[in-house]
Amino acid sequence: MTDSIPESPAANTTSTFLRDLIAEDLRTKKYGEAVIQTRFPPEPNGYLHIGHAKAICIDFGLADEFGGKTNLRFDDTNPAKEEQEYVDSIMKDVRWLGFDWERLCYASDYFGQLYEWALQLIREGKAYVDDLSADQMREHRGTLTEPGTDSPFRNRTVEENLDLFTRMKAGEFPDGSRVLRARIDMASPNINMRDPVMYRILHTAHQRTGDAWCIYPMYDYAHGQSDSIEQVTHSMCTLEFADHQPLYRWYIEQLGIFPSQQIEFDRLNLTYTMLSKRKLLQFVQEGRVNGWDDPRMPTLSGIRRRGFTPEALRAFCGAIGVSRTNGTIDLEMLEHFQRDDLNRRAARAMAVLRPLKVVIDNYPQGQEEFVEVANNPEDPAAGTRQVPFSREIYIEQDDFREVPPPKYYRLSPGKEVRLRNAYFITAQSVVKDAEGNIAEVHCTYDPASRGGNSPDGRKVKSTMHWVSAAHAIGAEIRIYDKLFTNAFPSEVEEGGDVLDNLNPNSLEIVTGAKLEPSLGSAAHGERFQFERVGYFCVDPDTTPTKLVFNRTLPLKDSWAKIEKKAGA
Ligand code: ATP
Ligand code: MG
Repeated sequence: MTDSIPESPAANTTSTFLRDLIAEDLRTKKYGEAVIQTRFPPEPNGYLHIGHAKAICIDFGLADEFGGKTNLRFDDTNPAKEEQEYVDSIMKDVRWLGFDWERLCYASDYFGQLYEWALQLIREGKAYVDDLSADQMREHRGTLTEPGTDSPFRNRTVEENLDLFTRMKAGEFPDGSRVLRARIDMASPNINMRDPVMYRILHTAHQRTGDAWCIYPMYDYAHGQSDSIEQVTHSMCTLEFADHQPLYRWYIEQLGIFPSQQIEFDRLNLTYTMLSKRKLLQFVQEGRVNGWDDPRMPTLSGIRRRGFTPEALRAFCGAIGVSRTNGTIDLEMLEHFQRDDLNRRAARAMAVLRPLKVVIDNYPQGQEEFVEVANNPEDPAAGTRQVPFSREIYIEQDDFREVPPPKYYRLSPGKEVRLRNAYFITAQSVVKDAEGNIAEVHCTYDPASRGGNSPDGRKVKSTMHWVSAAHAIGAEIRIYDKLFTNAFPSEVEEGGDVLDNLNPNSLEIVTGAKLEPSLGSAAHGERFQFERVGYFCVDPDTTPTKLVFNRTLPLKDSWAKIEKKAGA
């Protein structure tokens, strides 16, 4: 199975209030005849996660839907934390999700223009250089209930400000010694409007501009103006920026430039999941996971390696919709969308994770045959394949009990079961090793039940998967569970240590699994349903001599049950 990109990814994005707002702006021709322009603006300081997938589906999806365009813009204004590795991974992840950008942009491309605009604001008396230390500035800022107080440097002359700011740029002053601030209102009820910092001194090389700059713009000063330069009509971002909107508008109005507008929507939170690049970086750096693409990570590279599909992610993002209130979505809902997609598209195969050998005593020694098996019962077009069968097979250890508990319908002495697509077998005896563990189960089969069909209408209560021992190939299977034991790990962060909530059993490595031979030619990333077990995909650690599979998800769908209960 390979990734196919549907013709219109936008069709998956439902987002009523954003859609209504854009439709209204088009109707009133707020931006004349121009098509809508959006942007996705990641800071290249980490890998994208599932939360970003939601923002991507909104930014790209809505533009597609309204015939507009979307830029990918790297918000690279903080040279200390940003790296090319992140830039590359972000481009790869956006494309993987099924989107492509109109233009690839960098906020750093606008450093020259932003600097000119800062000079303009200084000349108009709307910005000043402040020498207060960071601590002093904090003291002057006031609180939510008390207004701030003016800095003693607030009334510097335009000439003095121009002189100091150009010298800041020229590198005459050390880091942290001065900042450029917007001159707005120290008594504003919105703390963001109390003379926010526009530029800070940072003698750090930038990954794109090198040593050209030693002053760097703050997010709030860079973001809206970058939108304006790109003529972004609808700049969608998450709700935590709502308090910044007046400042976003202030800069644009004072400069008299293209009137981009900021619109906020709810951030995606998922149970048992931490969606914060900063925290995810910590897990990587401390070795709590095996890198950004560890299949337990909620990064797009992690869940891709785990076997998730872009189709399922887009369908999920469409289904959760967009609102103006933050909430938390059940992880099971995301898993439900993934199962739904894989159930339709993943090829079936037989794999025994914890093998128990079964010898069929009345099957002729040395004989082998092939049984025909559907590749995907959900999709007849997927065809069939031939699976080898012989006298010795493997079944799951869990599928045999020497002393069956009540209601155990699988194999046990004297009981008959169906081997899927093959034969009915009946357990006769067990052979134990020196420690008393069951080494082999001896069975008989009914040759008349070939294909797994009852020869005389007699019924069996269980159908089991199996792999022919002589033909089986070995594999390592990595079984993942939730990374956290706590459903709300980001709330723990406020008080305690989120690392205390890491699930110690989030990875189980099963070696010695036995797979049907067709899986030997599976390609990296290829996805399967192992019948009765779950969804799996080939891990890139796979080599010609060692097959490694990741379990994407078990078969059981708890979300479908939750949903049913809620509806009932
Ligand atoms: P993080 O807190 O994980 O570092 P961020 O918001 O700092 O995320 P950016 O790279 O600045 O990450 O985000 C790029 C875009 O993605 C922004 O528009 C941001 O609002 C959006 N975004 C980030 N996290 C989420 C989320 N959990 N749900 C929806 N959108 C998100
Ligand atoms: Mg950020």
